[in-house]
Amino acid sequence: MFNDRFLLSGVMGWPVGHSQSPFIHAAFLAQTGLRGAYLPLAIPPARLEAAVRALPALGFRGCNLTLPHKEAALSFLDHLDPLAKRIGAVNCICVSQEGALEGFNYDSRGYIQALHEEMEDPLLFQGPVVVLGAGGAARAIVVGLLEEGVKEIRLLNRTFERAEALAVEMGSCVSPLAWSQRQESLRNATLVINTTNQGMKGYPPLDLSLEVLEAHAVVSDLIYTPLETPLLTQARRKGCRIHNGLGMLLHQARFSFHHWFNVWPCLTPELRQQVQARIG
Ligand code: NAP
Repeated sequence: MFNDRFLLSGVMGWPVGHSQSPFIHAAFLAQTGLRGAYLPLAIPPARLEAAVRALPALGFRGCNLTLPHKEAALSFLDHLDPLAKRIGAVNCICVSQEGALEGFNYDSRGYIQALHEEMEDPLLFQGPVVVLGAGGAARAIVVGLLEEGVKEIRLLNRTFERAEALAVEMGSCVSPLAWSQRQESLRNATLVINTTNQGMKGYPPLDLSLEVLEAHAVVSDLIYTPLETPLLTQARRKGCRIHNGLGMLLHQARFSFHHWFNVWPCLTPELRQQVQARIG
């Protein structure tokens, strides 16, 4: 359907130079034989709306949004997918045939898909599930867990009021707990998810002891720089299975690519290894 066209998409961020998405999408284009380019677009917050509104005229099929743009785009897009609305953030914009700007969020589905694929454990979602953090990424994760049918989510955030507000919004399956209870909250959990920035390159480790966590639990960290955070090292040493944020990054990219071009690219072991090597 796109044989005669040069396909354009990209990622808007500020900054955007660190993004692995141009590399991942270039690999998808090469693998699927489509002619096109995925561009890193450094857009300051004050220019976001103008830049997004220019996409149809420039012939873009769409673009991804990364920090700090994911929430800001909600206010001016023509249509919002219900999931993006519920999460309160957009990470994928699609330009419709008529030139309308449509907002989606594939962080949530990308994360859940990665967990399913890498852990192959349906019991994981029986819970209780502990989610640490209540920022933008946590919203996507909590919505994804609820869509999977998780019945008990223990939500902890350094600033309790944010956990409380998110729990009220998400309903009775989500219980906000004080940050001081984070060690104790791990008791009988099947899955523990770090959505804070603690443990990321340049940040201190997450201040959390996994002592009471049972060894059959999975510990998941949304961070992928580094690929193994101090939290994941602690979990691995304890005998727990571990899961990093790389799969989420790759799967949300795959969903976006499919939405724009109607072709599913493969997440090959080679691509995963290449991205891992770039992250170092
Ligand atoms: P965000 O909205 O800024 O939220 C940051 C969270 O970290 C908040 O809950 C914040 O708590 C918490 N936090 C900050 N400093 C802390 C500290 N010293 N101790 C405990 N908690 C602290 O950021 P975000 O967009 O949600 O991103 C969070 C993480 O997810 C980042 O590491 C990002 O790289 C990762 N992420 C990964 C992917 C992927 O594809 N793998 C996608 C999106 C995000 P307060 O509310 O108390 O400030």
